[in-house]
Amino acid sequence: MTILVTGGAGYIGSHTVLHLKEQGEEVVVLDNLSRGHLDALFEAPFYEGDLHDEKLLDEIFHTYDIDAVIHFAASSQVGESVEDPLKYYENNVIGTFHLIRKMVQHNVNRIVFSSTAAIYGDPEFIPVGETNATIPTNPYGETKLAIEKMLQWSDQAYGLKSVSLRYFNAAGADPQGRIGEDHDPETHLIPIVLQVALGQREQVNIFGDDYPTEDGTCIRDYIHVMDLAEAHYLAVKKLKETNESAVYNLGNGQGFSVKQVIETCERVTGVFIPSTVSFRRTGDPAVLVAASDKARGELKWIPQYPSLEAIVSHAWDWHKSYPYGFQTKLPT
Ligand code: UDP
Repeated sequence: MTILVTGGAGYIGSHTVLHLKEQGEEVVVLDNLSRGHLDALFEAPFYEGDLHDEKLLDEIFHTYDIDAVIHFAASSQVGESVEDPLKYYENNVIGTFHLIRKMVQHNVNRIVFSSTAAIYGDPEFIPVGETNATIPTNPYGETKLAIEKMLQWSDQAYGLKSVSLRYFNAAGADPQGRIGEDHDPETHLIPIVLQVALGQREQVNIFGDDYPTEDGTCIRDYIHVMDLAEAHYLAVKKLKETNESAVYNLGNGQGFSVKQVIETCERVTGVFIPSTVSFRRTGDPAVLVAASDKARGELKWIPQYPSLEAIVSHAWDWHKSYPYGFQTKLPT
């Protein structure tokens, strides 16, 4: 039996493929390489293509005995989604529509879906539990929420069982340094700070220091990408065991401000990181910290790298070896 991973050449997808392979699972990857990297894939059969290509989906479902899908393939930049919401409806909602339709036709009844804390918007309660109101503040979160609902209705109508995993802030890299985070353009805080440490940027822009937090900067819950990978593996196992749909938050339950992240990066790298305060970024909630007790209890998920130091130092190791991403591995 094989797991189909859509978006398996992307950041979280590729770490999940690596983890699944290390657990002895058979994996096949579908990715259109719009953001992903072939170099991030470890010996998994690979199809370059799009979710909108139903013929290609037919071919994959005919060729492999797929017993579960892990679905990462999506556009995932908040700012871009505000500027071009239709791209997000097309890639995320319509793309997933094609995938689900083909799964139903081919009697593939299990899917683990890459969802996000962005579906909560500016949450009323911290830490954020799964029962918090879901009121996204941008099209990215809206499209992920629409997909969660498509999955819920598809369970009721067709018996398609799903686990939606709502990630908080994914960060870090494979502890063995084989793969890491390579976005172009890079918008995430930790890789941007590490690019400053590498001398590739002059400074970090702190997006607002007048939030109602202790130091005035936004607080986020950073979770190691390999801990996310493990949660996907456990979610597939749980679907097989219980045949029940569920929704889980994935975070460490501990928040760090932007300034604290910069300080941690300075400690790990030993490099002074210049920063300047600029305007708030549209749609940024002040505090996002997860309550993940449900995933810990029901999936038996135990994050292996909860410390921000570990997360940053794995990211740093990778960035030092691949200073400009996968194309630029330095000789060891
Ligand atoms: N951030 C920042 N400067 C940057 C990038 C991010 O101050 O150059 C802040 C951002 O406003 C947020 C936090 O860092 O409060 C984490 O942002 P990121 O884009 O990494 O993840 P997000 O929380 O948007 O998913």
